[in-house]
Amino acid sequence: MPAGLPKLRARALKIDRIITGIYGRKTIVYDDDPVDTLVETILSQNTTDLNSHRAFEKLKSSYPGWDALLDEDPKHVATIIRSGGLADLKAARIIDALRFIKKSRGGLDLRFLKKMSPAEAEAWLAQMKGVGPKTRGIILLFALRMPAFPVDTHIHRVTRRMGLIGSRTGREDAQGELARLVPEEEFYNFHINLIEHGRAVCQARKPKCGMCDVRRYCDYYSKVVQGHS
Ligand code: SF4
Repeated sequence: MPAGLPKLRARALKIDRIITGIYGRKTIVYDDDPVDTLVETILSQNTTDLNSHRAFEKLKSSYPGWDALLDEDPKHVATIIRSGGLADLKAARIIDALRFIKKSRGGLDLRFLKKMSPAEAEAWLAQMKGVGPKTRGIILLFALRMPAFPVDTHIHRVTRRMGLIGSRTGREDAQGELARLVPEEEFYNFHINLIEHGRAVCQARKPKCGMCDVRRYCDYYSKVVQGHS
């Protein structure tokens, strides 16, 4: 165990407790179909939850099942998901991923991954082009019910400022660094509340440190705002 890890864990748990008090305890609602989760997560890249959800519902209701997209023209799919942004790229990624699953497994079902270890399931998902660490983490956590700590842009920024991850830690490595700080049963709650904190208070351009309830546990606050070295 690296030096300082117990202290970092204690700090992460304090922050978790404080932001749970502010934003409420979050209870996970698992997805039934990991393929739905995959498609929805690809659609969520670089857009709001509302836009990506709209695009997902529109896409799902436009076809009798995901099989119908296998031979579909990506340009047509792009017109359906236009509201989610980056439509051409996402349409191609979705079709590529579905084709990969079909070719590898003979059908569009990812539930077989539940029988693997989290590391094996993640390695299998990583074979798909355009399925990055965040998407894999989301599939593991939300659809396969496996311990994973997906890191989006908010979580990356907020936890880096707080000092819970290294200042040079990239998003992929952040998943592992954060996963060792809180117990597995806290992953979902901490994940969602960090995103909420990033949206409401620890915003990208100008964090509202003066009104932040976790400032006494935050490196950015003590080093940058207060100027302590
Ligand atoms: S004190 Fe500032 S930098 Fe730290 S978490 Fe709060 S808003 Fe973000």
